[in-house]
Amino acid sequence: MHRVGNYTAEHRLLGRDGQYRHYWLEASIQYNQQGKEEGAVVCATDISSLKQQQERLRHSESLLKEAQHIAHLGHWEQDLATDELIWSEEVYRIFEIDPTACPTAFPVLIDPVHPDDRPAINKAYLAAQADDKPITLDHRLLFADGRVKWVRKCVITHYDTDGRPRRLVGTVQDITAERLIDEQLVLAASVFESSLNGILITDANARIIKVNRAFTEIMGYCSEEVLGQKPGLFKSGYHDQDFYRKLWATLKLAGKWQGEIWDCRKNGELVPLWQSISAVHDCDGQVIRYIGVFYDLSEQKRTEEHIHHLAYYDSLTDLPNRQLFIDRCELALEKVRRNHQSLAVLFLDLDRFKHVNDSLGHPVGDELLRAVAQRLKNTLRHGDTVARLGGDEFIVLLEDTGSHAVVENVARKILAGLDQPFMTQDHKLEIGTSIGISCYPEDGEDATALIKHADLALYQAKGQGRGNFQFYDVRLTERAKERLFLESELRDALKREELLVYYQPQFSLADDKLIGAEALLRWHHREHGIIPPDKFISIAEDCGLIVAIGEWVLRSACRQAKAWLDAGFDFQRVAVNLSGVQIERSDMLTTVRQVLADTGLAPKHLELEITETYIMQQAQRNIRIMEDLRALGVALAIDDFGTGQSSLGYLKRLPVDKLKIDRSFVMDIPHDSNDMAITRAIIALGHNLHLTVLAEGIETAEQSAFLKELGCDEAQGYYYSRPMDAAGCLRLLKEKAGISAY
Ligand code: C2E
Ligand code: MG
Ligand code: MG
Repeated sequence: MHRVGNYTAEHRLLGRDGQYRHYWLEASIQYNQQGKEEGAVVCATDISSLKQQQERLRHSESLLKEAQHIAHLGHWEQDLATDELIWSEEVYRIFEIDPTACPTAFPVLIDPVHPDDRPAINKAYLAAQADDKPITLDHRLLFADGRVKWVRKCVITHYDTDGRPRRLVGTVQDITAERLIDEQLVLAASVFESSLNGILITDANARIIKVNRAFTEIMGYCSEEVLGQKPGLFKSGYHDQDFYRKLWATLKLAGKWQGEIWDCRKNGELVPLWQSISAVHDCDGQVIRYIGVFYDLSEQKRTEEHIHHLAYYDSLTDLPNRQLFIDRCELALEKVRRNHQSLAVLFLDLDRFKHVNDSLGHPVGDELLRAVAQRLKNTLRHGDTVARLGGDEFIVLLEDTGSHAVVENVARKILAGLDQPFMTQDHKLEIGTSIGISCYPEDGEDATALIKHADLALYQAKGQGRGNFQFYDVRLTERAKERLFLESELRDALKREELLVYYQPQFSLADDKLIGAEALLRWHHREHGIIPPDKFISIAEDCGLIVAIGEWVLRSACRQAKAWLDAGFDFQRVAVNLSGVQIERSDMLTTVRQVLADTGLAPKHLELEITETYIMQQAQRNIRIMEDLRALGVALAIDDFGTGQSSLGYLKRLPVDKLKIDRSFVMDIPHDSNDMAITRAIIALGHNLHLTVLAEGIETAEQSAFLKELGCDEAQGYYYSRPMDAAGCLRLLKEKAGISAY
């Protein structure tokens, strides 16, 4: 005061009540006219309440600051006339502006804005100035290091009294975190809605609170229809109480359950679902939700069923296949075993199917098989199983059959049924069938054994003439084993070169001249030695191998004959046996023509032997084939004559050159007068038909003399020569030609 003459300051003064109060003191020194200090005037203003207000204001400002900080919210104000900008501390933080740089112009708020969002912002500001309503806008900030922040701005315009915009006032809030959560929520919601799995959410009391679109699609209920309901609504009755009890127990214990549930759609349809149910817990471990996610298994089940059908049913006839038959047979066996019942397996093979298939083509064959399947189903009872094993083989399972008589009855019914002609589009087909039967328990313990034994019995049935049935007999097994072994070995015999051709010379009875040789097949098995043709020719015929083997014999014999003829030996012909199967299953005419061409043997040097039995079986058809062969210039002989039932009418018309009297008649000469009479008759018959007659199996001089006397033309037998290999035959040829070394 002394220095400057006055004094102002805030002071606290103690009142009478002992409380300090804030005063604003203003004092000035008073001077007299001479300039001497006279005193001072002190004015004290009680500013306690002002002081309190100030304090409150400061406090509320700091609260605001704090609140803005917590809410990541800042505010700013822009003077539109001066462009001057004021803002709160939080704005610095959000925009990451250095506060020491003290920027005061509006562009600092624009610079960090993501370039893509700028047009929208400019538009918003303009809109804000054109209107006095607040505008809200979310946009991104892009920072130098590539980070992006989302902010929400609210802007409002203040106007002059004359209505001109004066100031923009706004808030800016960092909403990056919320935005992230929002995005995740949107994502979750879209996953929920667009999921192909049905989703169902319940509260802790299993009341449905939310379902998605796939739920509606699968179950047929819309959301409103199920909200508040319990999933018991979908129960189909497919599962028992126990199933649901276990489900809930697992859910409670493990917090999740997974499995197949058959529920009911709204339309009442049963639907198989694959369900995963999990419990959702709060932070105290209390269940607050159950979430069920499921998908419809119907399509999968249908596919499975289809695959099952493909695997277990025959596609042509839709009958069970071998696998399913075996399964059913095993099941049935379990049952009959328990109940001490019996069971039968009937193995069927169509007799003339192959012929139909080969001559009329596969489409007709297929149609026929379908018709056979249908007829079998019609013939049998509902509980009987009929399956197709493949080709023309069918198999039937009869359960609880009791006696053989019952089975026999069914077999007869099947035979009679399949004996009736089948009418296909253009043909009336008669096929017939043969049946082999095996029974449990006597013929086998399991399906495999029963099927195998029925197959063996079938084989037997066929052997006894077609259209027959036969029960299995243990003795069949041994024979069948041997056959099976030989068949499999025979398949390799050609390849392994185990087959050879022997030659048995034939002689003219009148002058003992060697006139030719019959080619006879031998199998020299590497372990079992020489196997005679009686043992394997019929097997080769059954499995069709005879076609290849027969052609090989024909070729070998022709080549050999040609070699001997080329070497200058004098003989008329080589004889080769033909099997009926070769004639039926191959084009013999072409084969013979080809072999002759390949080997260069003149046709007149080849003789083909066909058994009487075969010729007479298919006389009409065979006459044509024989005529064709003969037209090539080869000779034909009827082999084993006297054993088949020749019709003399046919015999007359047959284009043959020679009869070969079967060995069985020659064998007993001179002891059996009947045989001698037959032999005499055959020779006379042959000569009457202008045929050459050859006697087979001559073993003694007596037989030879007897036949010579009867005027038989030619002879073949051990008495003259046994069948021998090519080298042996060559020696004989040389001998006969009077050559010692060639
Ligand atoms: P087959 O055509 O009647 O042949 C005559 C059979 O009688 C031959 O038996 C021959 O060795 C035998 N044999 C000849 N003379 C006598 C004899 O004095 N006493 C006795 N006990 N037997 C004699 P093999 O070679 O065992 O042939 C048996 C049958 O096998 C043949 O009878 C023929 O039907 C068939 N066969 C042989 N080779 C072939 C062939 O290449 N193809 C065809 N399809 N069948 C053949
Ligand atoms: Mg023969
Ligand atoms: Mg013969």
